[in-house]
Parts: sequence; structure tokens; C-alpha cells
Amino acid sequence: MPLYCKQCDSRRLPEHHESEKQTLWLCKKCENFVNMEDVIVREQTDEEREQAKRKLEEFEKTSNFPKEKLVRRKGVN
Ligand SMILES: [Zn+2]
Repeated sequence: MPLYCKQCDSRRLPEHHESEKQTLWLCKKCENFVNMEDVIVREQTDEEREQAKRKLEEFEKTSNFPKEKLVRRKGVN
């Protein structure tokens, strides 16, 4: 499995692509995908970049929320 990028040695992350019916491995640094045979399939699109950014922001929001709530509750009690 192509766990590491040949270009920059960064860790690749597997992503299942329903439309392409396969798992592609993304290097966030090079912003490209390889398939299971470690062959570059394509570059990451602007849309996918935006999506990843949105997901990260969403994750940060939800992971911060319980902490805030806990602090506030503590203040009330
Ligand atoms: Zn890379």
C-alpha cells in the first residue's frame, strides 16, 4: 500500500472515492492522489481542497464545543 509519498516522503491518507469506486491515497503536501499500485491518478481538485478545509473547520468547531460547554456549566454550578 502506498503509505508514503514518493515525491516528498509525507504520509499519504487513504480516501474512498465513491465516484471512482476505489480508494485513492492523498498526499496533502503534493496534493495528488495515487492508487493502490502507487501510480499517480490525478491532482487534488480545488473542490476537494475546499471540502477538506470545510471538514477540518467543522471538526474544530464540534471538538471545541463540549469543552466550552463544560467550562460554562462549571461556572454556573
Ligand atoms: Zn508528497
